[in-house]
Amino acid sequence: MTTVAVLGATGSIGSQTADVVRAEPDRFDITALAAWSSVDQLIEQAKEFRPDAVAIGESGLANRLKAGVPAGIEVLVGEAGFEELATRADVIVNGVVGFAGLGVTLAALSSGRRLALANKESLIAAGPLVRPLRLVPGAELIPVDSEHCALHQCLRADNDVDAPRHLEKLLLTASGGPFRGRNSADLKEVTVEQALEHPTWSMGPKITVDSSTLMNKGLEVIEAHELFDVPYAKIEVVVHPESIVHSMATFTDGATIAQLSEPDMRLPIGYALAYPDRIRTPFGAIDWSETKSLHFEPPDRETFRCLDLAYEAGRIGGTAPAWMNGANEAAVEAFLSGTISWSEIAPSIERALELHDGATADSVDAIVRADRRGRECVQSKSTHGGSGV
Ligand code: MG
Repeated sequence: MTTVAVLGATGSIGSQTADVVRAEPDRFDITALAAWSSVDQLIEQAKEFRPDAVAIGESGLANRLKAGVPAGIEVLVGEAGFEELATRADVIVNGVVGFAGLGVTLAALSSGRRLALANKESLIAAGPLVRPLRLVPGAELIPVDSEHCALHQCLRADNDVDAPRHLEKLLLTASGGPFRGRNSADLKEVTVEQALEHPTWSMGPKITVDSSTLMNKGLEVIEAHELFDVPYAKIEVVVHPESIVHSMATFTDGATIAQLSEPDMRLPIGYALAYPDRIRTPFGAIDWSETKSLHFEPPDRETFRCLDLAYEAGRIGGTAPAWMNGANEAAVEAFLSGTISWSEIAPSIERALELHDGATADSVDAIVRADRRGRECVQSKSTHGGSGV
């Protein structure tokens, strides 16, 4: 039996993790659950899965949680509660949204656990801090991001995932989001609702907006660089609107290995829970008796400038990815709240990146500071009439 802690339990990744565990209850046992503020949903999950402990991020909700969960379940509070639970199971699923997931990532790896990582920001912002922790005995990082899960599987074709000797390049596929094929002039007037209509994947609002700008893919490029230690020159992006090929690796002899499945996050979640085995439930299985066609095209880097901004931040390294990520989170928040338009997201991030102070990423404080400064660059601009720029 593999014990599982689900942090960010009530979000998109968390509820799909619950689904995987429901499908194979003889194999996986949820022993810890944490949510930031969705207390009622967390109580329902606690009643269903009977974990040893639960945590709520917002301390004001602790009493309601205590009153609602079955007797005998320990209740923890705040970021410290999340971090404590990140040390208490065989597999720690980090489905916390945004920069707040960093503490969970560091705690899980430091305590020698397997981290099933869906929180890409913590790795992107804090890559230099996470890298040495992967050497802690027992620590293991398995990506729960469809592309990186695919790359993880493709690299197994080269014998050793951690030391791919014959890799020529990684090819990250991108659906292209809801605005694929449109140009900048077309995109001046897009609404929040339009940006939230993803053609193939059903995800939370932040990541869906990131998909519409291609920032999600840019963040995934940095994530791939950190996860697999592959230089940026060997990481490419290919637009593939069907989201069936989840990514590919090309080897020195010209062979390209791809991983294909229907878009269903329960497959990468199950992969991370069961690795190096596989779950027996075929989430995402393709019906090959139906005819289908798959399309591939290069990304439109002029319209979707966030992609190159992410490459730039990645190449600068140090705290630049954290800075840019903070700027992006602020820009997406400003867009979702109606403060800036969709077409102002990329210029806001670009301006923020120009102000990066070149600090190294040698501590959590340095990362937190870079994240905050990146955000501030966007916030000060958007509250001072940035929409006129
Ligand atoms: Mg992805």
